[in-house]
Amino acid sequence: MKTRVLIKEGEYRLSKAGVMDARIDSEELYCFLTGCDRVVLFLNKEQEADKETEEAYFKLIEKRAARVPLQHITGTQEFMGFEFKVSPDVLIPRQETEILVTEAARTLIEGRKSAAHAKAQKRGKLFRMFSSPPEYDVLDLCCGSGAIGVSLAKICEDISVTASDISKKALAIAGENARKNRVEIEFVCGDLFAAIKSGDQMDPKADPAAGSSGAGGSGRPLWPSRLQGKGSRVQRFDMIVSNPPYIKRSSIAVLQEEVKSHEPMLALDGGEDGLDYYRRIIDEAHDYLKSGGWLFLEIGFDQGEALRKMIMDTGRYSVPEIIHDLAGRDRVVKCRKKKPE
Ligand code: GLN
Repeated sequence: MKTRVLIKEGEYRLSKAGVMDARIDSEELYCFLTGCDRVVLFLNKEQEADKETEEAYFKLIEKRAARVPLQHITGTQEFMGFEFKVSPDVLIPRQETEILVTEAARTLIEGRKSAAHAKAQKRGKLFRMFSSPPEYDVLDLCCGSGAIGVSLAKICEDISVTASDISKKALAIAGENARKNRVEIEFVCGDLFAAIKSGDQMDPKADPAAGSSGAGGSGRPLWPSRLQGKGSRVQRFDMIVSNPPYIKRSSIAVLQEEVKSHEPMLALDGGEDGLDYYRRIIDEAHDYLKSGGWLFLEIGFDQGEALRKMIMDTGRYSVPEIIHDLAGRDRVVKCRKKKPE
């Protein structure tokens, strides 16, 4: 069978099964199988595929037709131009989340520039030559695959990233992604801020199945950490970023098959109105932010107003900014911890 015909047949089987991007996925699976890229595939589409390739290809198509996400078959997802390992233990990084990372990175880079400038203005020319801009401490809360924290650490110079998640299995993947992308990140395991509070650090290389510790419990592998050795003082961050679970419970049934049957419910279910985690984060983040520190949250397309109100009602943050995605829908909320008056 010619490669072109093979791909066409793959596309047909996928679309019959209700797969959304049947053409793209049929090509991607061929590329994954043969190790070629799409340009090579295009150039060789008139070549005959051998029997072995044909058989192996249709096996992959069959898996995808059963609505297993493409990324669970290939084991990876690109995000912000970096490659991330994924598994059923983590949410597959979404393109929308690149908005959160882009805005957070822009804020860190600009903040660093203006802080350096302000410092230099104050101290004069000689100081400017030797002074270095501030090193920001950033927390990626509910880090999952680590896509947000790892990307920020890749993009921004001199930031020190801590990433936390309640799932040890997710942290093991996030640890692999940090190593794969050659960044140093401190991983902590716990329910939202519980891990920051306790200062316990998780060894992401440790076998997630081993040990008896639950989230926020004791007995997890520890090593000296930035969060430790500071007495009872809580670590405070210049920025907290998070893409917490935010799907309304009643909407879970109507999610795509790939999402509801293969991705971790723990990373999706935001409670009755989808806002459970935001309530807790907005209530607690204040205690873990430095004065003027930024809070960046990914939100659902219809949650902007609720978040704006929730943030304003605390009286502890600046007026929030709602950032839209390319389709013009609410996607990210940004605010700052108020400075003391
Ligand atoms: N954006 C994801 C989805 O549509 C949900 C992510 C989340 O709940 N954090 O499936």
